[in-house]
Amino acid sequence: MLNFNKLFLIFIFLLPSLAMAAERPNILFIFSDDHTTQAISKYAGDKKLMETPHIDSIANEGAIFTKNFCVNAICAPSRAVVLTGKHSHKNGQFTNGNTFDGSQMTFPKLFQASGYTTGIFGKWHLKSSPTGFDEWMVYPGQGNYYNPDYRTPQGRKRLEGYSVELTTDLSIDFMKKAKQENKAFMVMCQYKAPHGHWNPGPKYYDLYKDKTFKEPSTLFDNFEGRSSNAPKHKMGLHHMNPSHLKLPVESNKEWKRMTAVQKAAFKKAYVEENQAYLSKKLSTEDDIRWRYQRYIKDYLRCVKSVDDNIGRLKKFLKENGLAENTIIVYSSDQGFFLGEHGWYDKRWMYDISLRMPLVMQWPAKIKGNQTISKITQNTDFAPTLLDAAGIDIPKEMDGQSMLPILTGKNQEWRDTAYYAYYESPGPHNVPFHEGVRTDKYKLIHYYNSDEWELFDLTKDPSEMKSQYNNPEYQTVLKDLKKRLVEQREKYDAPEHDWVLKKFSKKK
Ligand code: CA
Repeated sequence: MLNFNKLFLIFIFLLPSLAMAAERPNILFIFSDDHTTQAISKYAGDKKLMETPHIDSIANEGAIFTKNFCVNAICAPSRAVVLTGKHSHKNGQFTNGNTFDGSQMTFPKLFQASGYTTGIFGKWHLKSSPTGFDEWMVYPGQGNYYNPDYRTPQGRKRLEGYSVELTTDLSIDFMKKAKQENKAFMVMCQYKAPHGHWNPGPKYYDLYKDKTFKEPSTLFDNFEGRSSNAPKHKMGLHHMNPSHLKLPVESNKEWKRMTAVQKAAFKKAYVEENQAYLSKKLSTEDDIRWRYQRYIKDYLRCVKSVDDNIGRLKKFLKENGLAENTIIVYSSDQGFFLGEHGWYDKRWMYDISLRMPLVMQWPAKIKGNQTISKITQNTDFAPTLLDAAGIDIPKEMDGQSMLPILTGKNQEWRDTAYYAYYESPGPHNVPFHEGVRTDKYKLIHYYNSDEWELFDLTKDPSEMKSQYNNPEYQTVLKDLKKRLVEQREKYDAPEHDWVLKKFSKKK
C-alpha cells in the first residue's frame, strides 16, 4: 500500500510534466512539394480549379496568409530556409545541388533540446542525414510516388503503396506513440506530391476524366513587354518529356518500380487517351492544349490525395483529443506554374512561383477565419513555431515570429520581401536574379545581363508588362531600388560578382 507521503511525492514528481504537457502545443507541420495557391480553393476563390476542403478548413479554423513569399523559389533551398529561419546565403543551401550542413542550428534541434519528441517523414531532399529528429524516415533524393524507398537511421526500407498515404501513416504512428508516452511532439509530414512527374494515387486515376479545364489566359504568352530572359526559358509545356506525359506509359519514370497490379491500373488510366492522341495529327497549338489537359488533371489528382490525407491527419487529432492544442501548419516549398505563360515549374520571382501557400490553425490560441495580408516569408516559420512553444528564438534567424499578428497584437512588421535565385541556368534556363516585392509593386534585377523589370501588381497581377522604362513609374522605381539596397544590407547579401563566379556553370 502507498502511504500519503509516497503518493504526495509521486504527485509532485508528475506535476511539472503534466503542466508542461498541458501548456506546450504540439506541432504538426505539413509540407508538400510544388503545391501552388491556384490549386487551393480557399486561395483561388471564384477561379478555383478544384475543391480542397481539408486545407481550407485549416484556414477556417485559423488563418490564411495571402502574401507569404519564399526567399528562393526552389525545392531544397526553401526547405533549408524553413529549417534554419535564414536566407539561402546564410544557411549555405543556395541551389538543389548543395548538401545541407546538418551541423548548423535548426528549429527541430531546438524543439528536441527543449524536451519535445521530434520526427520527420517523407520528402527531405537535402542529401545529408536529418539532424534534430528522434525519428526519421525520408525519401532518398526526390523520392518516388509508388512503393517509395525511405532512408532510416537503420538503412533503406521500401514500403508498398502510394507515397502520400504511406507518409501520412508514418506521421500518424509517430503522433500516436507520442500521445501514449504523454510527450509533446513536433512532427514534419512532408509529401512528394504534387511534384513532377505528377503520378496520382490509383484511386484518383478517374478523377476529372471527362472534364475539360479552362486554359489560363496566358497559355500562349509571347513574352512581349518584359526582359530578354523569359522567352529563353526551357519550361514550356512543349518542353515536357514523355515521362511527364505518360506517353507512352512505359516511359514514365515510376514504371519500373510498379507491381504488376499497379502497372495494369496505370495502363488502364492512360492508354486509351494516348491512343486517341496518337491517332490525330494536332497543330502546334492544339498539341499544347492537349498537354495542358493531361498535365493539369494529373497535378490536381495529386493535390486531391494531399488534401484527403490532411483530412486523415486532422481526423486523428480530433479523435484523440489533440486538436485544440496542436498547431497545424500547411505550406509548400514554393508556387508552381499551371500553364500560365505556357509554363510548368517555378524558380522565377514572378508571383505564381514566389507565393507559398500558408494556412495555420491553433484553436487554443488563435481565432478562426483570419486573413493575414502582411508580407511574410518562409524565414518566419521557424521563429513562429519556437515562439509558440516558448522556446527562445536565436538572434541569428532572419525571420520573425508571426504569432503577434495572429493574436491581434500590434507588431512592427516588414513591408518588403527580399528574393534571390542562384540556380542558373539550371534545367529550365532561368537566369540569376534578385529583387524586392512590396504590397503593390515588384522590382526584379537580372544582374548577369543587367536587365530590370518593374511590375504594378494592382493593375497587372499577371505580370505581363514591365513598367521599368515608363516615366510615370520613376518615383516608384527610385523607392524600389532604395529598398533593394536596404534589403541587401539588412541581410548581408552576397556580391553579384561573387555569385556569378561561384555558381555560373558551363553547360
Ligand atoms: Ca518544390
